[in-house]
Amino acid sequence: MSIPTDLVNRYPWLPSLKRFYSDIADKLPSEFISDIFSKSDSKQISEHILIIFESAFNNLEDIPNLKDENLSIQVYILLNILVYTLDNKLITNRIANLYSKDAYSKMERDNSESALYDICLDLELRVNFYDPPIRYGNKMLKDNREKQVTNFTIYYIDYLKLASHLRDEYRKLAHNPLENGYVYIKNRSLMRLIQEYVRNKILIEETEDKASLKSFLEEVLKIQEFKELYEKINSIWAKRKEDFDFTFKIDITGKTDILKLYPPCVKEILKKAGEGQNLVHYERLFIVWFLLALEYPVEKVVDVFSTLPDFDREKTNYQVEYAKKKKYVPYQCSTLQSITLCMKEKYKDKLCQEGYGSKELTERKKLNHPLNYVRIKQYRDEKEEEYLKNKAKRELEESQKQNG
Ligand code: SF4
Repeated sequence: MSIPTDLVNRYPWLPSLKRFYSDIADKLPSEFISDIFSKSDSKQISEHILIIFESAFNNLEDIPNLKDENLSIQVYILLNILVYTLDNKLITNRIANLYSKDAYSKMERDNSESALYDICLDLELRVNFYDPPIRYGNKMLKDNREKQVTNFTIYYIDYLKLASHLRDEYRKLAHNPLENGYVYIKNRSLMRLIQEYVRNKILIEETEDKASLKSFLEEVLKIQEFKELYEKINSIWAKRKEDFDFTFKIDITGKTDILKLYPPCVKEILKKAGEGQNLVHYERLFIVWFLLALEYPVEKVVDVFSTLPDFDREKTNYQVEYAKKKKYVPYQCSTLQSITLCMKEKYKDKLCQEGYGSKELTERKKLNHPLNYVRIKQYRDEKEEEYLKNKAKRELEESQKQNG
């Protein structure tokens, strides 16, 4: 089975890249880099690479269009080499998220069922293609019955493989109609699964073998143009990282170190989101309800999700607004423990592990709610501040007495 060459130019992450462009794909990375930077279009490639990194660091959801699509293959391979050499989980996640979202947008814009079918075949997905689309059920939307139609069914094993890292409830197999081992899947949901394939393809470029990475880096940094590009990306990241670190320290109480008031279960979710990792359904609900309970503005809560692979601002905004209207209460500790989101052991947090003193001096109270953690920490901070103020006052009075 052969797919059109144009499709590989448009989607260079397809396995057929190796077949069609074996002259490029089989080269050693250092040879490939030398080659790229000896050609007249190298400036354009570097510019485009920088646009991708800047877009990822700025949390954009699409990559501005590449002027010359014929360069997309070189851009894709160089991008992978850079992600490998930069060896930074945060950067890798951001690039993987952005590049895969862009792949989704392209498929959506192309809106071609036959191209989507070719992509599936190239990825060796076992799919059935129906043209015209087939009807497989109805969906009730308020009082209207909406026909469910699709061009595709996908073999359930392939579906599960691709969907295994996706956390949304509706992607669970139980929520999708299945017949003779094939899952009915809407075109857009199929594109979303392929987006996940692209994301994972970039993610697996990370290495444990730091020694090989070091010697590879030494070798490729001898190529001046690559070195300049590599250093430029590092310097943009260094500047952006500061802003990024700050995004979770939203000042709602007048204190700048609000993060230290949060319990480990919350810190862990914010950390994962910050690294661009996917969050499970319960993590998403909990963090929304927790932040809303602390009266975070809706747009700040939405921003927490902006680094996630499947982020959709409009949808998230709607969900956060809805949660705010419903005034949901965040899970208590016992619930968080039962769904394995309690992180007291991982963070070895004393307040979570040992509880806190009650009025009854012999008794210690068990922490039962993450919001209580914030209240107790805040109370302790205020007491500490009060103590320090009084201490300073006493010391001043002492020294005035001695001098006078
Ligand atoms: S004890 Fe409660 S507040 Fe502390 S990490 Fe566990 S769930 Fe969170």
